[in-house]
Amino acid sequence: MPSARNLKAAVFLDRDGTLIYDRHYLKDPAGVELVPGAAEAVRRLRGAGFAVVVVTNQSGIGRGFLTWDDFRATQARLDELLAAHGTRLDGVYVCPHHPGVTGPCDCRKPAPGLFRRAAAELGLDLAQSFFVGDRWRDVEAAEVLGGTPVLLALQAEEVMRPPHIPVVSDLGAATDYILTRRAAPDKRAGEEPQTEREEGGDS
Ligand SMILES: [Mg+2]
Ligand SMILES: [Zn+2]
Repeated sequence: MPSARNLKAAVFLDRDGTLIYDRHYLKDPAGVELVPGAAEAVRRLRGAGFAVVVVTNQSGIGRGFLTWDDFRATQARLDELLAAHGTRLDGVYVCPHHPGVTGPCDCRKPAPGLFRRAAAELGLDLAQSFFVGDRWRDVEAAEVLGGTPVLLALQAEEVMRPPHIPVVSDLGAATDYILTRRAAPDKRAGEEPQTEREEGGDS
Protein backbone atom coordinates (compact mmCIF):
# COMPACT_ATOMS: atom_id res chain seq x y z
CA MET A 1 0.00 0.00 0.00
CA PRO A 2 1.36 3.42 -0.91
CA SER A 3 2.33 5.64 1.99
CA ALA A 4 -0.06 8.45 2.82
CA ARG A 5 2.02 11.15 1.22
CA ASN A 6 2.00 9.35 -2.12
CA LEU A 7 -1.76 9.11 -2.24
CA LYS A 8 -3.52 11.30 -4.74
CA ALA A 9 -6.74 13.20 -4.22
CA ALA A 10 -9.52 12.22 -6.61
CA VAL A 11 -12.59 13.81 -8.03
CA PHE A 12 -15.19 11.08 -8.39
CA LEU A 13 -17.72 11.85 -11.08
CA ASP A 14 -21.08 10.32 -11.71
CA ARG A 15 -21.51 9.63 -15.44
CA ASP A 16 -25.13 10.06 -16.54
CA GLY A 17 -26.46 13.56 -15.97
CA THR A 18 -23.09 14.76 -14.72
CA LEU A 19 -20.43 14.11 -17.37
CA ILE A 20 -22.73 13.15 -20.27
CA TYR A 21 -26.43 13.67 -20.87
CA ASP A 22 -28.61 11.13 -19.11
CA ARG A 23 -30.12 8.87 -21.75
CA HIS A 24 -31.75 6.07 -19.85
CA TYR A 25 -30.00 2.72 -20.27
CA LEU A 26 -27.68 4.19 -22.86
CA LYS A 27 -26.29 1.50 -25.15
CA ASP A 28 -25.71 3.30 -28.44
CA PRO A 29 -22.30 5.02 -28.60
CA ALA A 30 -23.88 7.64 -30.88
CA GLY A 31 -25.97 8.72 -27.90
CA VAL A 32 -22.93 9.67 -25.84
CA GLU A 33 -22.87 13.45 -25.61
CA LEU A 34 -20.76 15.44 -23.20
CA VAL A 35 -22.55 18.00 -21.08
CA PRO A 36 -21.27 21.46 -22.12
CA GLY A 37 -18.08 22.29 -20.24
CA ALA A 38 -17.54 18.72 -19.03
CA ALA A 39 -14.33 18.01 -20.93
CA GLU A 40 -12.89 21.34 -19.88
CA ALA A 41 -13.76 20.50 -16.28
CA VAL A 42 -11.97 17.14 -16.49
CA ARG A 43 -8.93 18.79 -18.05
CA ARG A 44 -8.77 21.48 -15.36
CA LEU A 45 -9.12 18.97 -12.53
CA ARG A 46 -6.41 16.69 -13.93
CA GLY A 47 -4.21 19.69 -14.58
CA ALA A 48 -4.57 20.60 -10.91
CA GLY A 49 -3.28 17.16 -9.91
CA PHE A 50 -6.50 15.31 -9.21
CA ALA A 51 -7.24 11.82 -10.45
CA VAL A 52 -10.61 12.01 -12.22
CA VAL A 53 -12.54 8.79 -11.76
CA VAL A 54 -16.02 7.91 -12.97
CA VAL A 55 -18.17 5.85 -10.60
CA THR A 56 -21.44 4.83 -12.18
CA ASN A 57 -24.48 2.71 -11.38
CA GLN A 58 -25.47 0.77 -14.51
CA SER A 59 -28.29 -1.42 -13.34
CA GLY A 60 -29.38 -1.81 -16.96
CA ILE A 61 -26.64 -4.43 -17.23
CA GLY A 62 -28.03 -6.50 -14.36
CA ARG A 63 -31.54 -6.02 -15.66
CA GLY A 64 -30.62 -7.17 -19.15
CA PHE A 65 -31.28 -3.85 -20.89
CA LEU A 66 -27.69 -3.60 -22.05
CA THR A 67 -24.64 -5.82 -22.10
CA TRP A 68 -21.11 -5.23 -20.88
CA ASP A 69 -20.13 -4.90 -24.54
CA ASP A 70 -22.72 -2.14 -24.94
CA PHE A 71 -21.31 -0.40 -21.90
CA ARG A 72 -17.74 -0.72 -23.17
CA ALA A 73 -18.80 0.74 -26.53
CA THR A 74 -20.30 3.80 -24.83
CA GLN A 75 -17.19 4.12 -22.67
CA ALA A 76 -14.95 3.98 -25.74
CA ARG A 77 -16.98 6.79 -27.28
CA LEU A 78 -16.73 8.84 -24.10
CA ASP A 79 -12.96 8.30 -24.04
CA GLU A 80 -12.81 9.41 -27.68
CA LEU A 81 -14.76 12.60 -26.98
CA LEU A 82 -12.54 13.47 -24.03
CA ALA A 83 -9.40 12.72 -26.06
CA ALA A 84 -10.64 15.15 -28.70
CA HIS A 85 -10.55 17.77 -25.95
CA GLY A 86 -7.07 16.72 -24.87
CA THR A 87 -8.00 14.91 -21.68
CA ARG A 88 -8.99 11.56 -20.24
CA LEU A 89 -10.29 9.74 -17.20
CA ASP A 90 -8.01 8.05 -14.68
CA GLY A 91 -10.47 5.24 -14.04
CA VAL A 92 -14.01 4.01 -14.57
CA TYR A 93 -15.80 1.91 -11.95
CA VAL A 94 -19.17 0.34 -12.63
CA CYS A 95 -21.86 -1.33 -10.56
CA PRO A 96 -23.88 -3.54 -12.93
CA HIS A 97 -26.31 -4.71 -10.27
CA HIS A 98 -29.89 -4.05 -9.42
CA PRO A 99 -31.03 -5.01 -5.94
CA GLY A 100 -34.38 -6.27 -7.21
CA VAL A 101 -32.77 -8.52 -9.81
CA THR A 102 -29.27 -9.42 -8.72
CA GLY A 103 -29.68 -8.96 -4.97
CA PRO A 104 -27.86 -6.57 -2.68
CA CYS A 105 -24.28 -5.58 -3.46
CA ASP A 106 -21.66 -3.37 -1.87
CA CYS A 107 -20.89 -1.40 -5.01
CA ARG A 108 -24.14 0.30 -6.04
CA LYS A 109 -24.03 3.93 -4.97
CA PRO A 110 -24.59 5.15 -2.33
CA ALA A 111 -22.59 2.15 -1.08
CA PRO A 112 -18.90 3.03 -0.77
CA GLY A 113 -17.57 -0.17 -2.40
CA LEU A 114 -16.50 1.23 -5.76
CA PHE A 115 -14.85 4.27 -4.20
CA ARG A 116 -12.86 2.02 -1.87
CA ARG A 117 -11.87 -0.23 -4.77
CA ALA A 118 -10.72 2.76 -6.81
CA ALA A 119 -8.75 4.08 -3.85
CA ALA A 120 -6.98 0.75 -3.38
CA GLU A 121 -6.21 0.28 -7.07
CA LEU A 122 -5.26 3.85 -7.95
CA GLY A 123 -3.68 4.95 -4.66
CA LEU A 124 -6.23 7.60 -3.72
CA ASP A 125 -6.74 9.57 -0.53
CA LEU A 126 -10.49 9.39 -0.03
CA ALA A 127 -10.54 12.00 2.73
CA GLN A 128 -8.97 14.54 0.36
CA SER A 129 -11.28 13.60 -2.50
CA PHE A 130 -14.46 15.16 -3.88
CA PHE A 131 -17.64 13.33 -4.84
CA VAL A 132 -19.69 14.94 -7.60
CA GLY A 133 -23.05 13.92 -9.01
CA ASP A 134 -26.57 14.97 -9.83
CA ARG A 135 -28.17 12.78 -7.18
CA TRP A 136 -27.66 12.53 -3.47
CA ARG A 137 -26.76 8.86 -3.79
CA ASP A 138 -23.77 9.85 -5.95
CA VAL A 139 -22.21 11.93 -3.22
CA GLU A 140 -23.55 10.32 -0.05
CA ALA A 141 -20.54 7.99 0.32
CA ALA A 142 -18.41 11.06 1.02
CA GLU A 143 -20.09 11.25 4.41
CA VAL A 144 -18.82 7.75 5.24
CA LEU A 145 -15.42 8.03 3.57
CA GLY A 146 -14.51 11.47 4.85
CA GLY A 147 -14.37 13.31 1.53
CA THR A 148 -16.28 16.33 0.27
CA PRO A 149 -19.63 15.93 -1.51
CA VAL A 150 -20.66 18.37 -4.26
CA LEU A 151 -24.17 18.07 -5.60
CA LEU A 152 -25.19 19.38 -9.01
CA ALA A 153 -28.31 21.49 -8.99
CA LEU A 154 -30.25 19.59 -11.62
CA GLN A 155 -32.03 17.34 -9.19
CA ALA A 156 -30.85 18.84 -5.93
CA GLU A 157 -34.27 20.20 -5.08
CA GLU A 158 -35.76 16.76 -5.35
CA VAL A 159 -33.50 14.97 -2.94
CA MET A 160 -33.32 14.92 0.80
CA ARG A 161 -29.90 16.02 1.86
CA PRO A 162 -28.23 17.53 4.88
CA PRO A 163 -28.17 21.32 4.63
CA HIS A 164 -24.36 21.51 4.69
CA ILE A 165 -24.00 19.81 1.30
CA PRO A 166 -22.91 22.35 -1.30
CA VAL A 167 -25.00 22.60 -4.46
CA VAL A 168 -23.63 24.03 -7.69
CA SER A 169 -25.10 24.43 -11.15
CA ASP A 170 -23.00 22.03 -13.22
CA LEU A 171 -19.66 20.29 -13.54
CA GLY A 172 -17.88 23.51 -14.50
CA ALA A 173 -19.15 25.20 -11.36
CA ALA A 174 -18.24 22.11 -9.33
CA THR A 175 -14.71 22.41 -10.69
CA ASP A 176 -14.51 26.05 -9.65
CA TYR A 177 -15.70 25.05 -6.19
CA ILE A 178 -13.23 22.17 -5.90
CA LEU A 179 -10.23 24.16 -7.07
CA THR A 180 -11.11 26.88 -4.58
CA ARG A 181 -11.74 24.50 -1.71
CA ARG A 182 -9.11 21.87 -1.99
CA ALA A 183 -6.71 21.60 0.86
CA ALA A 184 -3.56 22.20 -1.19
CA PRO A 185 -2.71 18.48 -1.22
CA ASP A 186 0.72 18.41 -2.78
CA LYS A 187 3.81 20.41 -3.57
CA ARG A 188 2.32 23.75 -2.74
CA ALA A 189 4.63 24.63 0.12
CA GLY A 190 5.55 28.27 -0.05
CA GLU A 191 2.58 29.09 -2.22
CA GLU A 192 -0.19 31.18 -0.88
CA PRO A 193 -3.37 29.14 -0.73
CA GLN A 194 -5.98 30.41 -3.13
CA THR A 195 -8.28 32.94 -1.58
CA GLU A 196 -11.62 31.48 -0.67
CA ARG A 197 -14.26 33.03 -2.81
CA GLU A 198 -17.70 33.58 -1.43
CA GLU A 199 -20.00 31.17 -3.20
CA GLY A 200 -23.14 33.01 -4.11
CA GLY A 201 -25.25 29.89 -4.32
CA ASP A 202 -26.67 30.85 -7.65
CA SER A 203 -25.49 30.76 -11.29
MG1 LIG B 1 -26.58 10.83 -12.61
ZN1 LIG C 1 -23.11 -3.52 -7.38
